[in-house]
Amino acid sequence: MRTAAEIEHAAVVLRAGQLVAFPTETVYGLGADATNASALHRLYAAKGRPADHPVIVHLGAGADLEAWATEVPEAARALAGAFWPGPLTLVLRAAPHVSRVATGGLETVGLRVPGHPVAIALLAAFGGGIAAPSANRFGRVSSTTAEAVRREFGGEVETVLDGACAVGIESTIVDCSVDEPRVLRPGAITLEHIADLLGARPELGGATRAPGTLATHYAPDARIEIVTASELEARIHELDDTNVTFGVITFGPEPHPVGPTNAVTLATPASIEEYANVLYSTLRKADDLGMDVVLAVAPPVDGLGAAVMDRLGRAAAGR
Ligand code: AMP
Ligand code: MG
Repeated sequence: MRTAAEIEHAAVVLRAGQLVAFPTETVYGLGADATNASALHRLYAAKGRPADHPVIVHLGAGADLEAWATEVPEAARALAGAFWPGPLTLVLRAAPHVSRVATGGLETVGLRVPGHPVAIALLAAFGGGIAAPSANRFGRVSSTTAEAVRREFGGEVETVLDGACAVGIESTIVDCSVDEPRVLRPGAITLEHIADLLGARPELGGATRAPGTLATHYAPDARIEIVTASELEARIHELDDTNVTFGVITFGPEPHPVGPTNAVTLATPASIEEYANVLYSTLRKADDLGMDVVLAVAPPVDGLGAAVMDRLGRAAAGR
């Protein structure tokens, strides 16, 4: 946990219109004062993010939703009550004063109450909303460690707070600005969790702009190939006969025997939670090692598996 002095300093940095990277339970956020247009412009510039792509506004627990949204439907209240603080973003109709820089010009705003102790402490010290998209350059793999953030942004980010991201992939986004809530991006709050609460399985995908839903988001330099566990061995043998450098992400309680091969074992997650947790750091590791190809074993697509497959699919499509 950060010291009170570090958190207080980070809040001062935010008030001065500068950027603070901080850990959340999903991935690292790159934070700016959500009410300060010039701080928001600085945030978009640092990420290289197009101005029409909205960012999520992070709020402290007990924040007044009516201050940010004109309309909070029953489903949104139920979702917030059940899953906040936590890895869930709600898209709601934005209150008039909410900066249209933060919303990417949309009349809706993405709101989340994170559960990470460092994020909670920062939000409490700052006392307002912190706009914080993932701390990566636009279109690149999200950061899940302070070190990855420092390498990605160097001196452009004034303060980087240390902490671990337990989930490892971005929040579930539920659009509650439409009649039937839709999941715009799957995450650790699963379709099953939402269906249990709302009594109906929500549709996945939507018309609303969400960069996390662009096919080419989350792209490492290596080419990602998604394979089934039973295809893995044959594909390893094929690649062994070429001169590509490649790595493997296995999946399952028993690490798949990889035998004598040129393949580098990049990660061996035993559970879907571990798969999500190590995914982005593993893709970064593959790039650090200069891998041409990563063979990633597909997890089952129920529960958190839907979110892991979503990110793997986008990483694979990115090339
Ligand atoms: P990032 O994790 O940096 O890609 O940004 C956070 C995600 O939240 C992006 O996919 C945004 O599109 C999404 N988001 C934030 N606000 C909205 C909104 N008003 N409507 C739809 N998606 C949103
Ligand atoms: Mg992102």
